Formats: sequence, structure tokens, C-alpha cells
Amino acid sequence: MTAFWTEPDFDDHENVQLVHDRKSGLTAIIALHSTHLGPGAGGTRFWHYPEPKDAMRDALRLSRGMSYKNAMAGLPLGGGKAVILAGKDKAKTPEMLAAFGDAVDALGGRYVTAEDVGISEADMVAVSKRTEFVSGLPVSGEDAAGGDPGPFTAMGIYHGIKAAVLHKMGKDSVKGVHVAIQGTGSVGGGVARLLAHDGAKLTLSDIHEDRAKALAGELGGEFAPADAIMSTACDVFSPNALGAILDDEGIARLEAPIVAGGANNQLARQGHGQKLADRGILYAPDYVINAGGIISVAMEYLCKRHGDPCDINEVRKRIAQIPGRLEEIWAESDTSGVSPDVVADRMAQKLIGR
Ligand code: NAD
Repeated sequence: MTAFWTEPDFDDHENVQLVHDRKSGLTAIIALHSTHLGPGAGGTRFWHYPEPKDAMRDALRLSRGMSYKNAMAGLPLGGGKAVILAGKDKAKTPEMLAAFGDAVDALGGRYVTAEDVGISEADMVAVSKRTEFVSGLPVSGEDAAGGDPGPFTAMGIYHGIKAAVLHKMGKDSVKGVHVAIQGTGSVGGGVARLLAHDGAKLTLSDIHEDRAKALAGELGGEFAPADAIMSTACDVFSPNALGAILDDEGIARLEAPIVAGGANNQLARQGHGQKLADRGILYAPDYVINAGGIISVAMEYLCKRHGDPCDINEVRKRIAQIPGRLEEIWAESDTSGVSPDVVADRMAQKLIGR
């Protein structure tokens, strides 16, 4: 067996902890990539991994991703991530969540957790009974920050698409701009509504066809089948469903001068950002444009820690700064010839002192 610090995904992580609690059956990995800017913040994933090394890989990669995302969102938070290794039956017990809460608590605030794939708000409430270092808890009142991050993520993407349209097409409005949206769930649906309000022309797609068709009907847009959305001739392709869609084949199919959407890890591999640039396609780095949700969740946590009421306008103000960051990345990319994804990574690394 090789030591995990020789794994390609190990990136000078500050702390990687294996948690095992015999009584509850909990096995988890908590990875802290960087606490340079503040406590390492990032959600907990509950997943069945065929091989334990896949869980380690996920923890290492996702925690580094959180360092970059939090830094580029201007948050006083570092990057961390936890994965709970679920059994084949994906059984999750209150005892496991309690043991996980104890493990988070033992880190004394160096790691702050929240929901991720397989973990619900109710699970986080259970974890919060054992530790205060939790975010993503239910909020009361419409004007409170926190809660479901989807609408905040959508808001950031909407601002980011407008910035991309201005940068690439020289248009200061999305009126009449054709946006093809892949995935009309929490994020994609929210983006569609905001764009429709501004008079954008929409083509919507989802593997749940009824969902996309209903939204297209409501917003006056077109529907496209899931296998046709990436090759739709449009001004902006907005991926809001799956990761790794921008591979050799996906990039070759694109008929859009802009790619700007919320899905995580859109580029299949490093080098695909350059392939987009080679085709003259402007790319909005995913973790920069989709930071609206983490901004909301982080503000909820930070305000609570300081005992302040969390003003939703402060969250909106921070989300409205996403276009400025994208503009900085694209300007640097235009000057240096380095693709925007690599420019963003370099900026993030600098911010976390690497
Ligand atoms: P969601 O589950 O609400 O919506 C995803 C939608 O994509 C679903 O309607 C699903 O049917 C559809 N879909 C799946 N595969 C598809 C395909 N091949 N073609 C078309 N549609 C397909 O999830 P969400 O919260 O809207 O998140 C969407 C993406 O954004 C994910 O990649 C997620 O990781 C990322 N993201 C979400 C947030 C957030 O705040 N929710 C924040 C950052 C990033």
C-alpha cells in the first residue's frame, strides 16, 4: 500500500484524519487542506465508495477545491471536506452522526462542516447537537442568510453570465441573448427565472424532461432533449447539472462563445480549459461563478459565531462581487494567454499563501 501523501491528489494538506468509531460503525475522513485564511470549511459527503482509496481521493480533491473556492469568494475561511464511508446499504444512523459530530468537535473549530451529497439538513441538525462547528442549519424568515444555498448560487451565476456577455459580446444586457441551460434543478431553474426576467431567450434541458418542459412553458423558452443541449447554437451554454462534461468530445460539440454555469468540476481534466480557449470560448471558472451558495452558508455561520444578525443584503452584496472577480480573471487571461481556469487556480493559490 502506498502512503496517501504520495497520492497525486495530496497537495500539502495540513491535516488528514481517519475517524473510526467501532460502536456506531462510523468510518470517515476529515481532510483539512488549508486554514491559512480561517477555519477549513466544506461539507460532509455520505457515499458508498467501492474502494477506500476513492474516498481518500475525494476528500483530498474536494478539500483543496474548497480552499480555492472560499479564497476566491473573499471569505475568511480555509478549505476542508469530510467524507463518511457508507456501507453498501447506505445505512445512516443517529449514532454515526453523533460520533461524526464528536470528531468534528475534537478539531476545536479548525474544521466547519455543512451538507453535501447524501447529507440532509436534518442530518446537520443531528451533528449540531454534538458540535457548534456546523453550518447549513435551517433558518427562519425570508430575510435570513443561510438555508438552501441553491437560490444564492443561481444569483451568482446570473451575475456571472451578465459579466461574460459584456466581456465577450460587448452587451450590457442579456435581453435577447440566447442561453442554453443544462439542468433545471435548484440552480439551473433559478438561473433561468432570473434571465427570463431580463428578457433572455432560453433553451432548457433536463433528464427529467417534464421539469424542463414545464419551466420552458412557464418562462416562454424552448425545450431541448438532454443529448442535444450541448450542441445547441446559442450565445451562452450554462451547465447546471453534472461535472466533467467539458471533455474532448463535449468541447468539440459546443456551439456557444461562452460557457458559464454552476455545475462543480466542469472540466474533465486539466488542459480542457485551454481547449476551450483554443476554440475562442470564454469560460467562467466553476468555483468562482458558483460561489453564491457558499457565501450565504458562510455568512450564516460567521454571523452566528459573532452573535450578529445576518443581513441578507450583505450576502447579496458579496454575491454581486462575483462578476468583478471573473473580470479580473479574464483580463489576466487576455493579457497572459493563460486559460481562465489556470489563472483562477493561481490567484487562489496566492490567496492561500501557496
Ligand atoms: P439539483 O439536483 O437540484 O438539479 C440538477 C438537475 O440536473 C436535476 O433536475 C437533474 O435531473 C438534472 N440533470 C442531471 N443530469 C442531467 C443531464 N445529463 N442533462 C440535463 N439535466 C441533467 O442540483 P443543483 O443544486 O441545482 O446543483 C446543480 C449543479 O450545481 C451540481 O453540479 C452541483 O454540484 C452544483 N452546485 C450547486 C450548488 C447549490 O447551491 N445547490 C452550489 C454550487 C454548485
